[in-house]
Amino acid sequence: KEERQRKPEWLKINLNTNENYRELKKMMRGKTLHTVCEEARCPNIYECWANRTATFMILGDICTRACRFCAVKTGLPTELDWKEPERVAEAVEQMGVKHAVVTSVARDDLKDGGAAIFAETIKAIRKRNPFTNVEVLIPDFGGNWEALKVVMDQRPDILNHNLETVRRRSDRVRSKAKYDRSLELLKQAKQMQPDIPTKSSIMVGVGEEWDEILETMDDLRSVDCNIMTIGQYLQPTRKHLRIEKYYTPEEFAQLKEEGLKRGFDHVESGPLVRSSYHAHEQVKSAQSS
Ligand code: SF4
Ligand code: SF4
Repeated sequence: KEERQRKPEWLKINLNTNENYRELKKMMRGKTLHTVCEEARCPNIYECWANRTATFMILGDICTRACRFCAVKTGLPTELDWKEPERVAEAVEQMGVKHAVVTSVARDDLKDGGAAIFAETIKAIRKRNPFTNVEVLIPDFGGNWEALKVVMDQRPDILNHNLETVRRRSDRVRSKAKYDRSLELLKQAKQMQPDIPTKSSIMVGVGEEWDEILETMDDLRSVDCNIMTIGQYLQPTRKHLRIEKYYTPEEFAQLKEEGLKRGFDHVESGPLVRSSYHAHEQVKSAQSS
C-alpha cells in the first residue's frame, strides 16, 4: 500500500520563478481577491502567470457542496457582492492578464446558482480589457438552463464545465453533481451559442478504468465538446478521497492521442494538468478549427 502512495518522480515540480510571476505576485498582495492559482497552490502557477493566465474565484470561498476530492470549505455561503465583477476586472487589468479564467464554488443557495454574477464579471472584464480572453468554469447551476443562458448571452471565449470523473465514479467522487446533468449542460451551452468552444476536465486516479476514460471522451464528443483536459488526482489531505493510481507520462500521452483521434480540437493531458493549464493555447486552437 505504501508503495502505491509514494509520489512518483514526475510529480515533483521545479520551482523556478521568473519576473512575470514575481510581478503578478506583488500585485495580488493586498487585494481582497482570490486566485485559484494561489489558494490551491497550483503547481503550474509560475508557468501560467508567466503566460499571463490566471484563474479567479468569485462568489466566495464557501461551497454548498462537499466533493470528496476538493479542498474548498463546505457550509452556508454568506457572500454575494455585486461589486465583485468590477474588482475582478480591475485585477485583470492591473495584472495584465491575457487569458482570464473565472470560476466559483457551487452556490445551491442562490436561485440562479450565481449565474448573474458570472455574466456581470464577463461584462466588466471585457469593458476594461477588450483584448483579454475570458473563460468561465461554471458549476452546473443545479440544471437551471435559464441561468446558463444568462452566462452564454455574454459570449465567453470558452465555456468550461468539468465532468471531473467517469460515469461510474461520479456519485462517489462528486457531491450532488450528476454526470448526465453535466453532459446536458455542455450540450445546452453548445445549442445556445454553437460557435463558442466548450471544454471539460477529468481527474484520473480516482478508481476509474482505462476504457471508462475513453467512454467519457466519447460522451463529451457526443455533445460536441471541443476541448478536454486530463490530469492526475492528488489528494489534498488524508481525509480526502484516496489516490488509486498514478498514471505515467506515457499513459497521459496515450490519452491525448485517443482524445485527438476522437475529434477534440485540443487535449491537454499530463500529470500536472489542471483545468486552466495552457488555457491561452486552447482558445487559439479551438478558434482556428
Ligand atoms: Fe492558475 Fe489554472 Fe494555471 Fe493553476 S493551471 S496556475 S489554477 S491558471
Ligand atoms: Fe469543490 Fe466545486 Fe465540489 Fe464545491 S462543487 S466541493 S468547489 S469541486
